[in-house]
Amino acid sequence: MDSDPWSLCVTPRHFAEHLEVLAKQGYVMQLERVARALGGRGLPHRAAVITFDDGYVDNLWNAKPLLERFDLPATVFVATGNLNQDREFWWDELERLILQPGRLPETLRLSINGNSHDWQLGGTATYSPTDYAQHGGWKNWQTDPSRRQSLYRSVYRLLYPLTEDQRQNALDQLRVCAGAMPEGRPANRTLTSDEVNRLSEGALIEIGAHTVTHSQLSQLPLSLQKTEIKESKDCLEEILRRPVVSFAYPYGKRSDYLTQTIALVKESGFTCACSNFPGTVGRRTDPYQLPRFCVMDWDGEEFSRRLSSWFDSQH
Ligand SMILES: [Zn+2]
Repeated sequence: MDSDPWSLCVTPRHFAEHLEVLAKQGYVMQLERVARALGGRGLPHRAAVITFDDGYVDNLWNAKPLLERFDLPATVFVATGNLNQDREFWWDELERLILQPGRLPETLRLSINGNSHDWQLGGTATYSPTDYAQHGGWKNWQTDPSRRQSLYRSVYRLLYPLTEDQRQNALDQLRVCAGAMPEGRPANRTLTSDEVNRLSEGALIEIGAHTVTHSQLSQLPLSLQKTEIKESKDCLEEILRRPVVSFAYPYGKRSDYLTQTIALVKESGFTCACSNFPGTVGRRTDPYQLPRFCVMDWDGEEFSRRLSSWFDSQH
């Protein structure tokens, strides 16, 4: 498995274990039904929803067959700018260019959003397969074992609030410095339009919108936020030939969107929206800021413990 600094990946084996636990201990519902229940009689005991963000093709290859095996519904939020693209999401490309074995200049200089930034890489200008084998398991909350990890963290922070054009410009420079190709790795491939259709075939998987460029909405002018929200909905509706009613904010922390963003999501015709801070859903929860627990690559036992504690905190 490639390095996963944000701990976002779950192996199919562990995902199957999670589903087995959910099927036994929870009542997995469709997201749409949860949004509707909030305005009405409330939720059933131990209700849960399964969601995936971004639109990776492994949702079709790995997740869908397992969801079908356990007959559990889920929602997949797709960032439409990456549909039919050969390139990786910016955070994956950044990981490929900085944390995979390869060479970078000893002094790396990037012009980001009009400002020049320098990093001294010294001995880690060359990052060998041995270095990678040693540090590949690094997580972003751990201390940096080499300057490569510090560089990754630093560039990540600089790219996060940018517009897509500014971000791609910086990635273009970095790619040239690394002597790398723009094509992404198969394991990180995102969906094609046809695969979005295949993913939604059958009644189990709902497709939701996740903006076009996966930018931090709170940093964009309102007109651009509106375009991001509306165009992702229109694009998916054109592919699916049915209404798309669920939305997830990119990154999804409270600082990643504004009160006006929520209003734009409502105006655009969505019936609910997912955030990305932990919490359970109750009658007073805003259907346009549904909290979510992030599930890591835990085994079934650990997942079961976590799920129980989340259910216990539900009231
Ligand atoms: Zn996302």
